Amino acid sequence: MAPPAPLAAKRTGLKPRYPYPAALIFGVPGAGKGTQGEILTRIPGFFHLSSGVIFRKLDNHSQEGQIVKMYSAKGELAPDDVTVRVFLNWLEAQRAADRFRPREHLLLLDGIPRNIHQCQMLEEFIDVKALIHLTCHDEEAMIERIRRRAALENRIDDASDTVTRRRFEVYRQETEPVLDFYPKEVVKNIESTGIHAEVLLECLNYLVPVLKENFPRD
Ligand code: ADP
Repeated sequence: MAPPAPLAAKRTGLKPRYPYPAALIFGVPGAGKGTQGEILTRIPGFFHLSSGVIFRKLDNHSQEGQIVKMYSAKGELAPDDVTVRVFLNWLEAQRAADRFRPREHLLLLDGIPRNIHQCQMLEEFIDVKALIHLTCHDEEAMIERIRRRAALENRIDDASDTVTRRRFEVYRQETEPVLDFYPKEVVKNIESTGIHAEVLLECLNYLVPVLKENFPRD
């Protein structure tokens, strides 16, 4: 797939230097991927990007916005071509605006890639150095978290238990296989039902060495 390079190059005068070093955050809906990503992105060296958040910011009147809304309302994944295009455009816009700096930032991807085909499509753009798998032994606790989030965030896909349960199924069928796509050495399982600070500590224990290795200070 053609990278959206011309847009970024025009603004910054620099071509993207793919693939960007990245860490992926995985886990069932409600496992806390977004919460951890949002905390980590405040720490210099990390740049967090959530496909779900980008999708919710799409203009509802745009063709892409309508397609994504139609799928997320049912708990299904949006089509891969739309997903990857929106993601790369957004990423390059962040780079053009100098918010994402590939020489300084480890990309923290939350929610993407979400199936094997997306992994293949993204291979030329991202170099996966680490994969955090937020594990969950208590699915009902996750569903409860989502119910609470629904009240706070007004998300269409959180509004009904049927849609939530469908998202869990989709996760097991389409997203979990992604864990075997990458080398076992980069995968770190972290139990997500602990308190946020504890999960954060474990994420940092794993990610800081990756950060130091890929962005050594001169
Ligand atoms: P969750 O809490 O289920 O992890 P997200 O905020 O990551 O929710 O995503 C919300 C919805 O956006 C998904 O249910 C799906 O419809 C769509 N979506 C997000 N990321 C992707 C992706 N990588 N591929 C396809 N669809 C996606």
